[in-house]
Order: sequence, then C-alpha cells, then structure tokens
Amino acid sequence: MMLMAQNIVERYLVLKNKYRNYDTKYALKRMQAFRLATQELSRKGYEVALEILGSINFGIVEPTSDVDCILFIECDLHKDHPNCPPHCANLTFVKQEISKFVLKRLQPETFNIDYLDSINLKYVEERIRVEQVLGDEALYCLLFYRNIGRPVNRPLFIHYCDELEENPDFLQEIIPWASEALIGYLHTNQHILSFNKYNERILSKGLHLPEGLQQELNEYLNANQSNQNDQPHN
Ligand SMILES: [Zn+2]
Repeated sequence: MMLMAQNIVERYLVLKNKYRNYDTKYALKRMQAFRLATQELSRKGYEVALEILGSINFGIVEPTSDVDCILFIECDLHKDHPNCPPHCANLTFVKQEISKFVLKRLQPETFNIDYLDSINLKYVEERIRVEQVLGDEALYCLLFYRNIGRPVNRPLFIHYCDELEENPDFLQEIIPWASEALIGYLHTNQHILSFNKYNERILSKGLHLPEGLQQELNEYLNANQSNQNDQPHN
C-alpha cells in the first residue's frame, strides 16, 4: 500500500501511525482481551483473527466506547464463499465466544462489539492458490481492512496480504477502489465524531501533541470535507 504516494490512503496511514503513540490503558487492555479470545478459540479448534476499526486506532478509547471490528474466520463449511452466511454455525459460535470472553475479562466495563463484516480465509487461500485474485472484492476488502484497522492474531492472515501486495496487477486495481472506500469510511458520522472527541480529550487532559500533528489533522479533515460532494457512496 505504501506505493500509493501522497494519496488519501497513505495520508491516513501516516496519521494513524502517529496517533497510535497516544494509546490509552483502555485501548491496550482491549487489544489484549481480543488477543486472548482468539487464542482461546484456537485451543478449541477455531482459527480467527480480527481487525479493530474506529476510535481505538486513534487512542481515544473510553471504557464505554463500542468496538467495531472485522472478523476473519477459517470456515470449511463455506470455503467457496467469500463471506459465511449469517446462519453459519462457525461464524455464530466464534462471534458469541469472542464477545463473551472479552466482556467477561473487561467487566465491569460494558460496551457493544459490532461485527461490521467477515471474510472467510479459506476462500482467500483458495483464490490465491489458483491465482484468481483480480477483480475479487473480498480480496480488496481484506487488504483494505488490514490497512485501516488494528490487527488481532495477525499471523493467521498477514501472508495473504503480503502475497496480494506483491501482485502489481492487483495493486493497480485496488488503489482507486481503496481511496474511494476510505473516503466513504471517513465520512461516516461515527468517524467524524471520533476525531472531534479526540481533539476535546487532548485539550481537556493537556496531552502534548508533537508540533504540526494537530495542524496536519485539521488539514486532513478539511480536505476530506471538501471532497464530500464528490463522494458517490454517502
Ligand atoms: Zn461458514
């Protein structure tokens, strides 16, 4: 993804990495709880990984912040499908187990865990094996989620991302797609709210931002706002 010099995706990644230094103890505790949940599921024979999206990427997690995440699952029942259907027994089970485990570990904190999407890694594995990756939206999504989120159990799927990123034809395809998807994502009300909350928090707690970062954030948000009218998915 770093090939995309100066485009919106790259600017987002740079900003995300800078903010990551401001992790709260809640953010770290949550990441650990999700990590332990995937390890527990692995012991039970279910291989899963997650990308945590939203406020956790900008260090603005409070005990009541909801968690938005993407679930990566290895499901043999639906290996011909990029996504398991909602009634999939494996999918239902792992979602329940993760939520149960994480909420138990972090109690008395209470918050919602929303699974925004899921991808079947068995499908991904097969697409890559037979070298049919071009034009496949599930594979676009995999790489996109990997770049905008924060991974849990990364070793389970990172080799797929690496293989896709090494394919110049695939990269060529995904660059415009990802830019558009990112603009759509950033313009969700929730995301804008997160940034506003972040700024308030910095002001109220007197966190010291490196010189220029605040300005960079403002410019970035303003640039996105002015692009908003061009956004087809809003
Ligand atoms: Zn399934």
